[in-house]
Amino acid sequence: MLAKPSAMKKQLFECWRQTLENQTTHPLTQAEKNITKWTTNIYKRCSKNLSTTTAIIRIYIGHTQLTHKYIFSTSQPPTCEFCNGNPGLTIRHVIFECSKYMEERRRHLTGVNPTELYELNNIVKIKNFIVHSNLTNLL
Ligand SMILES: [Zn+2]
Repeated sequence: MLAKPSAMKKQLFECWRQTLENQTTHPLTQAEKNITKWTTNIYKRCSKNLSTTTAIIRIYIGHTQLTHKYIFSTSQPPTCEFCNGNPGLTIRHVIFECSKYMEERRRHLTGVNPTELYELNNIVKIKNFIVHSNLTNLL
């Protein structure tokens, strides 16, 4: 007999939490050992907005719909249509490099570099960047 969806969801979350906590080199582990506390901190800093919280967690994990939906369609990884040379569409490119988001980056992420992305103090800045760039629903 199959487990109930809620039981499966709880089991998957626990598996995911244990996997992340056992990785000693993952930035999430370095920033916050307790995933539940970490997600709660993000949720609070996102004014308890679930879609924004989800988008930020996906950024931190490095897998978003924008950058990884190609896996489900078995197509090629996406490239950026707005930048010269059509670089690969990665989270780092969208947040720190893409010419399309230059103005919003200047407004909300000045002084934040990629190594500081995982710091809790920068969550509000990232939230403001993705909301004002209309990226929330794409992530
Ligand atoms: Zn770009």
